[in-house]
Amino acid sequence: MTVTLDEKVSPIYQEVLARNPGEVEYHQAVREVLESLGPVLSKYPEFREYKIIERICEPERQIIFRVPWQDDQGRVHINRGFRVEFNSALGPYKGGLRFHPSVYLGIIKFLGFEQIFKNSLTGMPIGGGKGGSDFDPKGKSDSEIMRFCQSFMIELYRHIGENTDVPAGDIGVGGREIGYMFGQYKRITNKYEAGVLTGKGLTWGGSLVRTEATGYGTVYFVEEMLKARGDSLEGKVCTVSGSGNVAIYAIEKLFHLGAKVVACSDSNGVLFHEKGIDLDLLKQLKEVERRRVRDYASYHSDAVYTENGNIWDIPCQVALPCATQNELTGKDAEALVKNGCIAVGEGANMPTTPEGVSVFLDAKIAYGPAKAANAGGVATSALEMQQNASRDSWSFEHTEKRLHEIMINIHKNVAETAMEFGTPGNLVNGANIAGFIKVAKAMLAMGLV
Ligand code: GLU
Repeated sequence: MTVTLDEKVSPIYQEVLARNPGEVEYHQAVREVLESLGPVLSKYPEFREYKIIERICEPERQIIFRVPWQDDQGRVHINRGFRVEFNSALGPYKGGLRFHPSVYLGIIKFLGFEQIFKNSLTGMPIGGGKGGSDFDPKGKSDSEIMRFCQSFMIELYRHIGENTDVPAGDIGVGGREIGYMFGQYKRITNKYEAGVLTGKGLTWGGSLVRTEATGYGTVYFVEEMLKARGDSLEGKVCTVSGSGNVAIYAIEKLFHLGAKVVACSDSNGVLFHEKGIDLDLLKQLKEVERRRVRDYASYHSDAVYTENGNIWDIPCQVALPCATQNELTGKDAEALVKNGCIAVGEGANMPTTPEGVSVFLDAKIAYGPAKAANAGGVATSALEMQQNASRDSWSFEHTEKRLHEIMINIHKNVAETAMEFGTPGNLVNGANIAGFIKVAKAMLAMGLV
């Protein structure tokens, strides 16, 4: 079933296509939100009159800059850096930095656009933004990474600040990169402004649970979806795509809650381990040794690694796409549903194609869209900002409890909103509408800015 756009929002979408040529991921993200907003414009004609959607679709500020750096052989390289400051109605721009060769303006804009609504759903005072570079960290030495991060920050520093714009990590940017960037920011500005970046190390302003937060939060969200259907994660067979930070901690929380994770992956292939993924080994390989998933199989003879395999062909009851955008297609979604999948929670941003989303919604399985399901990462970033502002640090238990409450509230909010707008169980509508209305009301209150 393809959704046709309501006649009130269709011209807005056409305008976005015309103004942002070639940015296909951005078009996809906008379309998905606009598909939900027709009834909202009927209920709130003032949003239409003051062109709230049109304004939200145009970033407040877009920064593109040159990032020159030298490799270990002294060769000069030039990359492109981005920061899109999308919307600050609810608070300082907030969102990660992605370092990946696929990065261009259209990817950063899709991510920044998603971030506006995701951040709104967290209930925390944060606006939406995103940034990154087409730099490929794969195979780079530690000193090359450091030089790149320092060069990136030499331009970025003038655009960010604890009350202005607060970046964090995303694909290709973890604790190491945040450390190098924070060090450079501190040196340039001569300020210990801890709240300018999140995802910092624990001894210098970072928050406990931030590393685990996206993965844990996604699993908490799935737990709520299943609870609402009188079910639980106990004993469920799960597959989790990816093997980065989000995937690893989603796997960990699934195990805590009594589920069994039989597969994970990376961009080269898929790992299937029927008796359950050995999480300590996976962490050692990925987090400590920075190796690939294929290496896992040499430690466990009963694990099967398939180069270029498709993780969604493996039967499971719960599937968590935690790798990257558009990794789960319409065909994959059909295979999952046919093989007995009852719940999908998106740990990655926009991992399911529009065809895949339709398959899940039509099948009426529990489907948690990224904006809601992976909001635990940025929510915990907001908790890190809170700790920095009060020069305090909280215990693991307290911080995790806050994260858990936030995820429960997000689920409640999106489920109730889906119901209120006449599409019970459709959490795509629930997330888009609930996320949008809060931002729209704030924008309306602040006048034409
Ligand atoms: N990159 C993460 C996301 O997609 C987290 C952003 C943040 O913590 O600011 O939500």
